[in-house]
Amino acid sequence: MAVIRCERCNREIVHFDVCNYCGKKICRYCLKASQRGVVKARDRLAICKSCWTDISKRKLYKHREVIFNVDYDGSIRQIA
Ligand SMILES: [Zn+2]
Ligand SMILES: [Zn+2]
Repeated sequence: MAVIRCERCNREIVHFDVCNYCGKKICRYCLKASQRGVVKARDRLAICKSCWTDISKRKLYKHREVIFNVDYDGSIRQIA
């Protein structure tokens, strides 16, 4: 299994989340908050600590809107 690096802090990680607001693969230390099973067609919503400090992105998160979507095949797509 390939080791990847967190695109926010460069830590080596095996499991990652994708921030729905910058599209980066992030480790659990960089993950600020996440929700599961809340949005149709997406099973997970995640925001990193950087995006959390951005009021407009945080507002999107609260409204369950996303900028980047993760497809079921794992590809990350900008949708907004
Ligand atoms: Zn990280
Ligand atoms: Zn982010």
